[in-house]
Amino acid sequence: MEEKYDVIVAGAGMAGLPAAAMAAKKGAKVLLLDRNNKENVGRKTNWGWICGDAVATSHLDFIKSNLGLSFSYPELEQEVEGVYAISPDFKSKILFDEGNGYVLNRPLFEGKMLEHALKQGVEYRTNFEVERPLIENNYVVGIAGKDEKKEHKEFKAKVVIDALGISTTLRRALPQNEYVERVVDIDDLELTGRFLYEFDLDHEDPLLYTPKYALIHLNQVIAPGGYGWVFPKKGNRANIGIGVQKRSLEIRNKKLNKKDTLQSLMKEYATSIPVFKNMRLYNEGPNGGEGYWSVAVRHQMEALTFNGYIGAGDSMVMPNPISAGGIGPALTAGVLAGINAADAIAKNDVSIKGLWKYNLDFNEHYGKKSASLEVFRVYLQSLNNDIINYGMKVFLTAAEAKQLSYGLVPELSLSAKFKTILQGAKNINAFRNLLYVVNKMKEINAIYEQYPKSMEEFPAWKRRITQEVKEVKEKFKPNPV
Ligand SMILES: Cc1cc2nc3c(=O)[nH]c(=O)nc-3n(C[C@H](O)[C@H](O)[C@H](O)COP(=O)(O)OP(=O)(O)OC[C@H]3O[C@@H](n4cnc5c(N)ncnc54)[C@H](O)[C@@H]3O)c2cc1C
Repeated sequence: MEEKYDVIVAGAGMAGLPAAAMAAKKGAKVLLLDRNNKENVGRKTNWGWICGDAVATSHLDFIKSNLGLSFSYPELEQEVEGVYAISPDFKSKILFDEGNGYVLNRPLFEGKMLEHALKQGVEYRTNFEVERPLIENNYVVGIAGKDEKKEHKEFKAKVVIDALGISTTLRRALPQNEYVERVVDIDDLELTGRFLYEFDLDHEDPLLYTPKYALIHLNQVIAPGGYGWVFPKKGNRANIGIGVQKRSLEIRNKKLNKKDTLQSLMKEYATSIPVFKNMRLYNEGPNGGEGYWSVAVRHQMEALTFNGYIGAGDSMVMPNPISAGGIGPALTAGVLAGINAADAIAKNDVSIKGLWKYNLDFNEHYGKKSASLEVFRVYLQSLNNDIINYGMKVFLTAAEAKQLSYGLVPELSLSAKFKTILQGAKNINAFRNLLYVVNKMKEINAIYEQYPKSMEEFPAWKRRITQEVKEVKEKFKPNPV
């Protein structure tokens, strides 16, 4: 038997929860589906809520102003004053993301968002496995899946919001179309490990652990093509993890004649931080604090809508390409998806055209600031530790790094830098390449400023972006160690 809704939100995570609450707040009849039970709302996989859990306050403010929902301790577990990126030789650190933020208690945070969505009148079905979209006349008209008894079930709606995260079974099964891409390149993924540790603290060290800052360790030997992180939680606890690019890991292993895996690197990194003594994994489900998952670090899908379909969060590869921060864009996109789904239904047009405004809204609020950062990521992955050490000391000032972290293209103070750049072909070449990267970022930002106002202009616009990114990837190949 089919049941009919205005909006189905598939996935009750960082994107799906605000999407459902927002659409319901605007009067839509909303069904929210997730494979988790209520106690585990937001859990990504059996491994748990695999995430660094750090989010900037500005994103929480966006939820407050749109949904009227505010957060405090304990779901905002630990306040931090910013994020430091630290060079492989530990000689440079750059305050990458100034301004305060929080390391979340993720189960509590998502639990609070769920309660809020239910208060708005959202209907919530747990233990439901979403298997595929229902397609009729080139429209998504609902979803098919299995309920808690493993029985086949279908639900229909005017709009389906895909908030299933990186492993989405919806986006990947859309009809072939020139708007939403169905595949993400493996080179654009970070394979990640994340451990939750309790420890006895030997001493604080601003380069290794401090409860005041989130720390990122760049190191192509320890985390090839990615980085390691130590994010403080309340008391003597921390969220520790690494992200690696598969291709960079293979090159690194070959160069060093090693056979390391994500798991072996993760364990080595987590247990080799000398300020922690007597480390114990703690909590979060059957795996006791250990977990592995993936995050995409390319520019977001260029178009986020299809007929009867909107994507939000990791299903649309929205995380920041440098930091992999995806909570902020997921919350933002969720709110905007809920608004646009309800508005399109009210106007009786849920075609790509009727939903197009969502693309413009996301671009304006987030997308245009983060897309060009993919270019910087590809460049960074082509540098070895020596050049990263040198570059962090000489190429980028703190102010420039901060601009980058806000999605701005740094205005490199060139003459000052040229004076300080030492002899050495490799460094000069890397600096020239940085100039190229900065120019490329400007070009991409300019293209995103002209995001197509209508779906008809989109294919030609997309070809420009695809060409720019292709050029950068052909120029810079992963080259760790
Ligand atoms: C190791 C790691 C560290 C990270 N660190 C940070 C960080 O510090 N800060 C930050 O901002 N971002 C971070 N991110 C990214 C961030 O976690 C994600 O961007 C964010 O969770 C995206 O939210 P989402 O709702 O789109 O997807 P998800 O959080 O993945 O939620 C998807 C939901 O859909 C459900 N679901 C999936 N498939 C199905 C199905 N077939 N049927 C039914 N239900 C299904 C899942 O159970 C889940 O509830 C990190 C990611 C990783 C992997």
